[in-house]
Amino acid sequence: MEVFAVERLPEIRPGDDLAALIEEQVELRDEDVICVASTVVSKAESRQADLADFPASDRAEDIAERIGVVADEQKDPRFAQAVLEESTELLFEAPFLLAVTRFGHTTVNAGIDRSNVPDADLLLLPEDPTASAERIRDGLDTDAAVVVTDTSGRPFRHGQRGVALGWAGIPAARDWRGEHDRDGRELGVTVQAVVDELAAASNLVTGEGDGGTPVGVVRDFDFGDHGGSDTLYRDPDSDLVRQALREWRYD
Ligand code: GDP
Ligand code: MN
Ligand code: MN
Repeated sequence: MEVFAVERLPEIRPGDDLAALIEEQVELRDEDVICVASTVVSKAESRQADLADFPASDRAEDIAERIGVVADEQKDPRFAQAVLEESTELLFEAPFLLAVTRFGHTTVNAGIDRSNVPDADLLLLPEDPTASAERIRDGLDTDAAVVVTDTSGRPFRHGQRGVALGWAGIPAARDWRGEHDRDGRELGVTVQAVVDELAAASNLVTGEGDGGTPVGVVRDFDFGDHGGSDTLYRDPDSDLVRQALREWRYD
């Protein structure tokens, strides 16, 4: 398998046709997986926003004040308001905002970015990244799969890495259940989150700074002869970690 970044993409603006811009720079193949940083998907989908768009509610004022005390610097309650509006649930309000986005991804600040955003205060994540992936894929001349990625932190480990927010043309996961290990033991639980692994590989070549390479192409990846599944976001009723965090309070 080969992973390379697409060079020479312009600064992405509202309304841009990402599929066409990508295909101008690289000859895609039907079996490719195109990993597109959510930053540019959001830019094309007009998800730029200003703090002034988010007049702070009392709850946002409270949250900003709490975080401000911990951080020992004043926090803008309008940012907390933006996070509240982008989420269905806050698992932490302090010392930072850990939010479940409307489409089910759990991440700090609901994934709202303040870097690589000219002409606006904030960049919100795409509203529905799977729909975004489908739209980009529909716009391609080839039959390549599309994964919309973001850089995200994770619990238990330092460091951030690429994850898949939405995908089209490829199952999210490769189901190993029912297959066997080298001793003939049947695998009972392993469902490999393939699109996250592809997103992480792409993130390695797209980078985080001013590289100007928001798209990675994974070539000659073989999904293999496995069952697939499309569920990555746990549902709240069976998510034990989420349930435990609801009980936790920082003070
Ligand atoms: P995120 O992981 O989706 O939040 O995106 P990042 O902000 O980490 O950016 C990923 C890559 O895309 C970096 O190499 C950035 O320099 C690049 N990038 C961000 N916005 C643009 C853009 O509008 N045009 C181009 N060509 N590159 C961009
Ligand atoms: Mn991001
Ligand atoms: Mn990134």
